[in-house]
Amino acid sequence: MGIPCPYPYPGEMLNGTLARISRRAGLPLSEIERLSGYHVRFRHDGAFCMELLAFFGDKFEGRRSIWELACSNTIFPMVMPFAAEKTIKQYKSLTRQSIRPDGRFYNIGWRKLRLKSRLCFCKECFKEQLDRYCENYWKLIWQIPLADVCEIHGTPLTQTSLPGSHSTRVFDPTDIDNSACRELEVTEHSCMLTKTIATLLANRRIAGRDRWHDIISRLAKNAGISDVKAYRWNNGVFITSPTLADQCIAFWGENWLAQNFSQILSSSTIQLGNYWLKYLILIKALDKDPSLSFDRYISQITSKC
Ligand SMILES: [Zn+2]
Repeated sequence: MGIPCPYPYPGEMLNGTLARISRRAGLPLSEIERLSGYHVRFRHDGAFCMELLAFFGDKFEGRRSIWELACSNTIFPMVMPFAAEKTIKQYKSLTRQSIRPDGRFYNIGWRKLRLKSRLCFCKECFKEQLDRYCENYWKLIWQIPLADVCEIHGTPLTQTSLPGSHSTRVFDPTDIDNSACRELEVTEHSCMLTKTIATLLANRRIAGRDRWHDIISRLAKNAGISDVKAYRWNNGVFITSPTLADQCIAFWGENWLAQNFSQILSSSTIQLGNYWLKYLILIKALDKDPSLSFDRYISQITSKC
């Protein structure tokens, strides 16, 4: 296939790279699919869609591994710590020959993963991208829920009217309608969370859920909370504790929780799921000195091995 295929830019979301390919080739996505033989649509947040990785693996063979792409340009690092060993091995061993792009993933809970409902960007980064690359691209971290400020400039991200997930098309930054954009609200919470999310996204050795549990249990004990009960069901992790929900409200505030984790407000059973954002919320709420940053937990959450 003679379609020019650029490398993803640093931190670019892979389906955004696909949008650039489509733009450069002057071809609609459907035509790229037809020519490549892959169904590469932006599906279920497209974030680590097997077909998409296979499509790029085919182009970059020998230059960048699919594993590299999955870790650097998709949200795979968010679910990797919770994925079964078998799934991790499946990713690691992906090669052009062994790819079976049937789009199925096992034991990841990936359907629960959502990007923001609207695509977001940093105005300052967009300016710098234009100066440096003569085009704009979508960074992955801008689309992660709760990462509402730019981790480089510390400025609020701008939310566009373009759907961020469950879309069947990919978006070109030039599609942005400026009149429909709005700046996200920046709070101390969002600055703190963005920084931590950036650190964890860049880290390939985030611990699995047992380590996260340990931290939560220890903090609950230190805080004198004795009603925390954790259990697993249907491959998810649930924590029940009426007191814990109160702690969350006390730290994060009812409004913030209502916007971001309304489930914590409506039930004393907290479904932690298979990605680490909710664990972060609980850890912070349980911390005896929440004014300190997340940094001191990073070494406990990441593994040296
Ligand atoms: Zn920026």
